[in-house]
Amino acid sequence: MKLGKYSIGVGDRFTHQGKAQLRAIMKANETGLNISPVWNKSNREHIYVGTEPADTRKEADEAVNALHFNGSYFVDADHINLTTVSKYVEVSDFFTLDVASFIGKESSKEGVDAFVASCEKYMGELHIPGIEKPLHITKALLTEIAGKFLAATQHASEIYAYLKKEKGAGNFITEVSMDEVESPQTPVEMLFILKMLADKGVPAQTIAPKFTGRFNKGVDYVGDLAQFAKEFEEDVLVIEFAVKEFGLPEELKLSVHSGSDKFSIYPIMAEVIARYDKGLHLKTAGTTWLEEVIGLALAGGEGLELAKKIYENSYNRQEELCAPYADVINIDASKLPSVEEVNGWTSEKYANTLRHIPGHADYNSNFRQLIHVAYKVAAEMGEEYTGLLVKYADVIGSCVEENIYDRHLRRLFSI
Ligand SMILES: [Zn+2]
Repeated sequence: MKLGKYSIGVGDRFTHQGKAQLRAIMKANETGLNISPVWNKSNREHIYVGTEPADTRKEADEAVNALHFNGSYFVDADHINLTTVSKYVEVSDFFTLDVASFIGKESSKEGVDAFVASCEKYMGELHIPGIEKPLHITKALLTEIAGKFLAATQHASEIYAYLKKEKGAGNFITEVSMDEVESPQTPVEMLFILKMLADKGVPAQTIAPKFTGRFNKGVDYVGDLAQFAKEFEEDVLVIEFAVKEFGLPEELKLSVHSGSDKFSIYPIMAEVIARYDKGLHLKTAGTTWLEEVIGLALAGGEGLELAKKIYENSYNRQEELCAPYADVINIDASKLPSVEEVNGWTSEKYANTLRHIPGHADYNSNFRQLIHVAYKVAAEMGEEYTGLLVKYADVIGSCVEENIYDRHLRRLFSI
């Protein structure tokens, strides 16, 4: 099973927007692209929303059948580990092995020594085709990298072994993720992480490192664009080298866990993958949930009322809702409008404040980030929320489609 060159992860918290998301991808594919949709959902999302992995599979299959989509598509068990993987085995065919929490965990001295010894031929000046300056590989550097990442890659191989036993080799896509950590992995670290995965027989088709800069939920990238561009390009080149050198799957590509809406790095990634003729997997998640709220606001009447109620609850429960996401949001509470103010808003004012159009006079990234992490509030509303998703499916569906196509795919694939 192969993922293909271009793929986009579309998260859908409440599993109502599969068709709208697929319409956006099919519209992009009409221009000659071949982008595979991947419906991703993490264990945390399932728990908050009260959905089961089978619901995501059902949504994906239904969307594909309804729209007669004949390309490949996948259902991603996002950010799973050995403790959480089992309930995804049957319905998922894409597994994101999250080994971030194993980074820095101790490995045996023999293990570290053996890895360092196996890298003998790379010591000294290592030239990676395309990277201007050679990498300086020393024993000390290799020991440090092994100390940091051997346990994590070992955990990846254990999850992989479990999946291979349950599903059979070749029947699923393997991604390894290390993005949910504080400090980014450097291209040289990435190189040796890939060697460890290859040594342990993990046939990763995508790898998700932590990149430099902040990937706050639902809002644009914050960081040094030039530094990101350099790192992204070097990662692409390191992967190309690692595939040939270590015998990893030819289709191995970067997976960018974007936290949604990192518009300012889209053209950078687009340029690099076009220049080197490489693939990319881009994960988005909460951007679709935000379009549901925008759609409700635009629907007016009880839709707008519910959107306001969602804000009121979110505003009053900021601390609780933000806590699990503390590392990936940056909300200036003093810039949040009061509940009273929002209750006086029109449909347009609400939608324009939430919709991600950087530069729009009404756009408020603090408001957007708060709603982004507040899907739990809507989940608790149950039918009251999902009933309106059904009632206003048309207006919401167009918001979802327009968002994925116009703001994401067009930027990413230069359409
Ligand atoms: Zn991630």
